[in-house]
Amino acid sequence: MLNAVDDGFLQVLQRDLPAGRLAEAEPRHLTEPRGKWPGRPGPLALPRNTAEVSVILSACNAARVPVVTWGGGTGLVAGQVMAEGPLPLILSLEKMTEMRGIWPEENTICVEAGMTLAAVRQAAQAEGRLFPLSLASEGSATIGGNLATNAGGTQVLRYGNARELCLGIEAVLASGEIIHGLKRLRKDNTGYDLRNLILGSEGTLAVITAASLRLFPNPKKRVVALLAVASPAAAQQLLRLAEAELGGLISGFELMSRMGFDFLAEGGFDLKAPFDPLPDWLVLIELGLPAAMDAEAAMAGLYAQAAELDLVQDGVISASEAQADHLWALRETIPDANRRVGSISSHDVSLPLGAIPGFIEEAGARLRALADIRINCFGHLGDGNLHFNLFPAKGRDRGEYAAQAGEMSDLVHEMVDALDGSVSAEHGIGRLKTADLQRFGDPARLDAMRRIKTALDPNGILNPGAVLPL
Ligand SMILES: Cc1cc2nc3c(=O)[nH]c(=O)nc-3n(C[C@H](O)[C@H](O)[C@H](O)COP(=O)(O)OP(=O)(O)OC[C@H]3O[C@@H](n4cnc5c(N)ncnc54)[C@H](O)[C@@H]3O)c2cc1C
Repeated sequence: MLNAVDDGFLQVLQRDLPAGRLAEAEPRHLTEPRGKWPGRPGPLALPRNTAEVSVILSACNAARVPVVTWGGGTGLVAGQVMAEGPLPLILSLEKMTEMRGIWPEENTICVEAGMTLAAVRQAAQAEGRLFPLSLASEGSATIGGNLATNAGGTQVLRYGNARELCLGIEAVLASGEIIHGLKRLRKDNTGYDLRNLILGSEGTLAVITAASLRLFPNPKKRVVALLAVASPAAAQQLLRLAEAELGGLISGFELMSRMGFDFLAEGGFDLKAPFDPLPDWLVLIELGLPAAMDAEAAMAGLYAQAAELDLVQDGVISASEAQADHLWALRETIPDANRRVGSISSHDVSLPLGAIPGFIEEAGARLRALADIRINCFGHLGDGNLHFNLFPAKGRDRGEYAAQAGEMSDLVHEMVDALDGSVSAEHGIGRLKTADLQRFGDPARLDAMRRIKTALDPNGILNPGAVLPL
């Protein structure tokens, strides 16, 4: 049984913390990017260091007050806002933004959890190193939030998810105990892997306060191409060809449909695709190459081979950093364009690679048989991750589809499950997908998850209602 934050509890916190650590939550702490889940307006705690996080959690645990950790508020499954239940304490790590150390010769960096992803990338860049996690939300998203959601993004094909980029974490348990796990080791087989348990747990098992992260040598040359392909199946063949020719040098391989570009125009974005007419399907490829290789020649060679096999019909290859950035901007602005158009429902799914073309075709046909909709399918094809989002027909409003939205979402998720896919590829479960996890999750795994939650957070104070239902 949880208790709402009350004056007595706040007095305890005020007594145990230095001055200035409590504030009123601002609107940004109470909303999420989709604008669908309003957060309960609890008071805001702004710790400056890990010891203060420990004081806060042990007070919450003693008083059985729920605590929602807020990173940058960019999560897409409403994990960062508690929409129902007793008034929570909102714990923001936005004042914990220090870089604790960087070791370029070891390719490691240690940062506090409130540092934004963009700031971590810049800190690495300043030492001639790459931190390869890259998301359109990186200006606001924090490294704590990235690790808590095991974020993916555009470079997973080459460098892995956030989990693969993390060497160690410092985290505070519900009891207030601090796990000191920041060792910068590539190998450490000493018992249960608590780091990997806490990563991806969306603030339900512990609060991450700092992390040691892997860095990489900066690829010396980058080249980006936007290519017109006939179909998702052709895009997949192109991926196989690119892997055979350039192996580990491919740092991005994104599929986009014409709908994404239509939405950029409809949403009023001043971004033009370099094709007229627009092809139905496009692929964005990024190569990051060592200095000794000629990046443009490598991409042009790939294009020539793909054209010979009839896999690509047209394409542009960046000749400068500005052009490369422009091509990426097209891809990275599509989620914003989607928001302006307003989806009926969005699906962040992953599938076995071989199942993707059939899924796109069959799901599209079955959904269009149900309702007059537009589908914007795009995503990280190299990782088998599609964003399969449904929108109203032109001139219609998403409200008109309210009665059918659930049925359409179920259809997508049931097809994904039947194909051995995942109903949440990179955004997590949060509050949006708890019912999906209960429905499609393996029963024994769900039971083990509940027992782990009870063991680490016996009073259920950490982000109640996220991942596992209340
Ligand atoms: C435009 C846009 C593009 C995006 N693109 C991608 C993408 O390509 N790939 C992708 O994977 N995601 C993407 N996202 C989703 C989002 O950016 C990620 O989920 C991000 O990792 C969340 O970080 P945050 O700091 O904003 O966390 P929040 O949104 O504040 O929190 C997310 C979850 O993590 C928990 N949490 C936050 N900080 C901590 C902490 N220190 N310790 C424990 N728990 C914590 C919260 O309680 C919540 O459950 C995108 C979002 C937007 C808006």
